[in-house]
Amino acid sequence: MSKSPWHVNILTLFPEMFPGSLGQSLSGKALEKGLWSYDTVNMRDFGHGVHKAVDDTPFGGGAGMVLRADVLEDALLSLPHKAAKNIYMSPRGKPLTQNKVTELTKIPEITILCGRYEGVDQRLLDAHNFEEVSIGDYVLSGGEPAAIILMDACIRLLDGVMGNTQTPDEESFSNGLLEYPHYTKPASWTDSSGAQHDVPEVLTSGHHKKIAQWRKERSEAITKQNRPDLWEIHKNKEKSL
Ligand code: SAM
Repeated sequence: MSKSPWHVNILTLFPEMFPGSLGQSLSGKALEKGLWSYDTVNMRDFGHGVHKAVDDTPFGGGAGMVLRADVLEDALLSLPHKAAKNIYMSPRGKPLTQNKVTELTKIPEITILCGRYEGVDQRLLDAHNFEEVSIGDYVLSGGEPAAIILMDACIRLLDGVMGNTQTPDEESFSNGLLEYPHYTKPASWTDSSGAQHDVPEVLTSGHHKKIAQWRKERSEAITKQNRPDLWEIHKNKEKSL
């Protein structure tokens, strides 16, 4: 097992889906540099019988198949040692937030279980203390894309990954608000219909205090419009200060 500062064990039926997009760009370079690492365990290798069956019908009836606890436990115990945290990607889990992402980057080794079919036998989750994490209120066909999203969000926060060129401090969610809009050169741009679009004047004024105030106001307005739930929390927090 590689000993990078942040390691992820991934239990999956589709190991070839990794590193996927994580092998490109920022996370890909960080992988090459050894700033993070991963191992996959193919749960199929622990399946039963000639067909290497990993699933069976649900007790109590109903559609679909359920991943077996005994098969998944064998896959989990094949890891050289127990990770500090076991996560099961699941639509019924607690939502993945920036706070959760930050928390996970502080754990040097985590194990992620990617479900398929109807999901996983509950007894496996209970016996091995899996925390269920959801990436949103929709149902994917498998946990692999969800694991990639969780890992992507974590990797960019790891030491040495972003360098000095980008900073997470002012990004969406870092202060409970969504981010303000960005503009770059040219300062005046004419679109394909002939309409001219100028950068908000304040941004070219060089007046740092005014720029900060403008950004704060835009940030608040965008949060209020797009995420009234976050805006409520932010307002209440400000009131209690
Ligand atoms: N029967 C499950 C339910 O209704 O909650 C959905 C199973 S889904 C078809 C198969 C697998 O995809 C799940 O076991 C889980 O690992 C993954 N998955 C689907 N949606 C997800 C989401 N929003 N967040 C995280 N993982 C998800």
